[in-house]
Amino acid sequence: MNCFDCDRRELTVAAVAVCSVCGAGVCATHVRTEAEQVREPANPGEVMHDRSARRLTCSTCRAAEEAV
Ligand SMILES: [Zn+2]
Ligand SMILES: [Zn+2]
Repeated sequence: MNCFDCDRRELTVAAVAVCSVCGAGVCATHVRTEAEQVREPANPGEVMHDRSARRLTCSTCRAAEEAV
């Protein structure tokens, strides 16, 4: 798979990740990494998880989320 953002600029760059929002392939330049706190529903008797998950998005989806 190639980077979608690069492809739109008529470049061919191998993707290193897949956007978790739109599913586009993203190269190292365009990938956006963020740690997301995993919050599980508070069900009685279940162990609460408090850890960070890695979330990879493309620059387009990252910009869209920041604009909200
Ligand atoms: Zn790219
Ligand atoms: Zn995306």
